[in-house]
Amino acid sequence: MSNIDFAKLSVSACADALAKKEYSAVELVKAIAENVRKNDGEIRAFLKFDEESALAAAKESDARRAAGKILSPYDGIVIGVKDNIAVTGETISCASKILAPVKSPYDATAIAKLKNQGFIPFGRLNMDEFAMGSSCENSAFFPTKNPLDTSRVPGGSSGGSAAAVAAKFLPSALGSDTGGSIRQPASFCGTVGLKPTYGRVSRYGLVAFASSLDQIGPLSPNVEDAAVILDAISGHDPMDCTSLDQTGTNAAAAVRAGRDASLKGVKIGLPKEYYAASGLDSGVAKVFDEAIENLKKLGAEIVEVSLPHTEYAVAVYYIVATAEASANLARFDGIRYGDRKEAKDLVDTYFKSRGAGFGAEVKRRILLGTYVLSSGYYDAYYLRAQKVRTLIKRDFEEAFTKCDLLLTPVAPNLPFHFGEKSDPLQMYLSDIFTIALNLAGNCGVSLPGGVDPTTGLPVGIQLIAPNLGEEKLLTAAAIYEKQAFAFAPKAFGC
Ligand code: GLN
Repeated sequence: MSNIDFAKLSVSACADALAKKEYSAVELVKAIAENVRKNDGEIRAFLKFDEESALAAAKESDARRAAGKILSPYDGIVIGVKDNIAVTGETISCASKILAPVKSPYDATAIAKLKNQGFIPFGRLNMDEFAMGSSCENSAFFPTKNPLDTSRVPGGSSGGSAAAVAAKFLPSALGSDTGGSIRQPASFCGTVGLKPTYGRVSRYGLVAFASSLDQIGPLSPNVEDAAVILDAISGHDPMDCTSLDQTGTNAAAAVRAGRDASLKGVKIGLPKEYYAASGLDSGVAKVFDEAIENLKKLGAEIVEVSLPHTEYAVAVYYIVATAEASANLARFDGIRYGDRKEAKDLVDTYFKSRGAGFGAEVKRRILLGTYVLSSGYYDAYYLRAQKVRTLIKRDFEEAFTKCDLLLTPVAPNLPFHFGEKSDPLQMYLSDIFTIALNLAGNCGVSLPGGVDPTTGLPVGIQLIAPNLGEEKLLTAAAIYEKQAFAFAPKAFGC
């Protein structure tokens, strides 16, 4: 095999090695494909991958490098893609049977931007069906396992992306986050996961779950990689009407320049409602307490803040997100999009195609969303939820008048066992620390905070910044990471 050190696989390490000609892009793609074939049998992070097309792109990259015409320092580096983000010619099933036969006719803007820098999209990573779930158990095809303990879930819905990065299959991957789907699996698998500010990254080519909440973002082995990918994919896009008028980030430079500094002068707010949350696993609480002490040692000032409407966040989310999902998923009917089942007439086609094509959780959400939007209930549920959403957003604005960043846990619990959360409500409540951020719109990063002393499993901490505060957010995260308080996930089987 090649001289690729899989234990240290990262975007920055690959950029270095390609620049020093330690290996070529073709060798990188071949080695990654071989490693996935050899080691993904149990974890199952990948739904599939197309080695041929990745090799063709790698050949072009090597030719550019030989001619001294690389598109960026990252030319030739492989990046994984969650199965709800469009890559030309690749399947885009969203881990759902209804879209299993569908191939993307175009690239998502995030993918086109990565390709413009020479990145090579590789593989379709498993997820909860249509990004609805927190464990990857809702994939219509098979669940993905947590590489750090295969009896446990990798989190979700971007479970395949987190597992592939934690298992050292890929230097980084894209996920999507509607209520925590990047940050929670990052925490469960011991990786970094960033949810950018709403509108920072174009949603064009991301299959919509809840359009006012969805954002694409990176899952990476370290903060610098997450910054590099954010820089590549961020920026205004006329193809997405919710895209913010901004030029994109310069986060990698900020991280490199700032990570040796301390956190002197940085005020970090602890939302008292989060801190006091009952039901916090003792290992999660311990890591969180340690993180506070570590941040103080780094010079940060810790202040108490309040996010009083947090208690309504889960309820609001499951009204807003399901309402939007019921509208967004209406197009998957076997006629406009999706696998069509034999039927006697139009209505029967809808029933049969959607009946066979969607899994139980997706159907539950469509029903809930249709109900809250129906006449007679719209004012009582949907409109009310939108008003409370505004209050949640204002809570964050108010908190940021008193501090620069917020610190919270990512999830109240450790990665759980398969089948452990069979009650949907129990599963929904596990998103308590992540979804308020999607409702408010600002950015947050999950980074390895430490390990649970009993199981040795990773526990993430979440730093949150105001709108468009990614540079500041990632620099603080890199300072924390650099102090080696953080947990380094063990290399998996290679
Ligand atoms: N777990 C949450 C849900 O099931 C969040 C999902 C997501 O962020 N895509 O809705």
